[in-house]
Amino acid sequence: MKAAVLYKANTPLEVVDVQQQGPQAGEARVRVKAAGVCHSDWHIMNGDWTLPLPMVLGHEAAGVVEETGAGVTGLKAGDHVIFSFRPQCGRCLYCSIGRSILCDGHPSARWAMLDGSTRLKRDGQDIFQMARIGTFAEQVVCPAEMLVPIREEMPWPQAALMGCCVPTGVGAVTRCASVEAGASVVVIGCGGVGLNVVQGARLAGARLIIACDLLDNKLDLAREFGATHTLNARRDDVVARVRALTGGRGADYAFDAIGGEATTLQILDAIRPGGTAVIVGMAAMSVRAPITPYLMALQEKTLKGTMYGSVRPNLDFPRLVDLYLDGRLKIDQLVSRTYRLDEINEGFAALTSGQVARGVVVF
Ligand SMILES: [Zn+2]
Ligand SMILES: [Zn+2]
Repeated sequence: MKAAVLYKANTPLEVVDVQQQGPQAGEARVRVKAAGVCHSDWHIMNGDWTLPLPMVLGHEAAGVVEETGAGVTGLKAGDHVIFSFRPQCGRCLYCSIGRSILCDGHPSARWAMLDGSTRLKRDGQDIFQMARIGTFAEQVVCPAEMLVPIREEMPWPQAALMGCCVPTGVGAVTRCASVEAGASVVVIGCGGVGLNVVQGARLAGARLIIACDLLDNKLDLAREFGATHTLNARRDDVVARVRALTGGRGADYAFDAIGGEATTLQILDAIRPGGTAVIVGMAAMSVRAPITPYLMALQEKTLKGTMYGSVRPNLDFPRLVDLYLDGRLKIDQLVSRTYRLDEINEGFAALTSGQVARGVVVF
């Protein structure tokens, strides 16, 4: 079985043969059909996030269930599934209150199976799986609770993006911020996640959707996805322009789809008093941002973070699939380029140069 393994930060992924153990109790084996190339993988490759290696990267994917382990219910061979990169035990506090993204029911490491063991080896060495899935691989054995069955009509590259960038962006708007019809929204960063924040705002009925990026090709896409105004942060003073477009007050909501010191401060400056700023993009672990507590209190501003768009995978993934198949959610335009598994490092080169909304590895 071939998989793309990271052995050392700041080196390319190595596409190699690995030995895979079959699914144990509560697990399933999935043949991967498509897997998206995401900035979160890149954070591990470039050392922003320090995780134990070697590891198969990839966490945004879809495929077909081949085999299930003992005790698995609600899932069978032949089912089309989207991988969720968070498990959901169904019993902990967070699962009980509908916030399964924060599930703390499994104490084992996030790169191993729920019992703490691994299913992959090469030359006798254990190989970890990113987010317990590691989808840059021909096949994945993972906890069955991380697989969400979907309609078979869903095309594979589009289904893969339902595993990370689509729910993260749309969910940030609908689940985390609960943006209401008529609201004004700012989106910083128009990559795979940011474009989905833009279309989430459109679906929520926002009246003003101001999209910001450094690249004009991304801003063109943002208009296609529903942005009413676009700002190029190289040429425009983003906060001043947002104020000018919102009667001098600032926007009701602002989303940082990049993650970093400058953009965190920018979304706080871009919202009106009483407004909500949401951190969606994942920064490097070491980043700090100096907010002004005085202004936070004086202006009653809210700063929130959202992981995975705060979605409920079992409910939201099939809904997003329905919206796509009904023509109300744009995903085709996000799939800029496809790669074979052995071309995966080209996918990361395109990601880091900003050439693509999303590259997808197809199998
Ligand atoms: Zn991702
Ligand atoms: Zn739980």
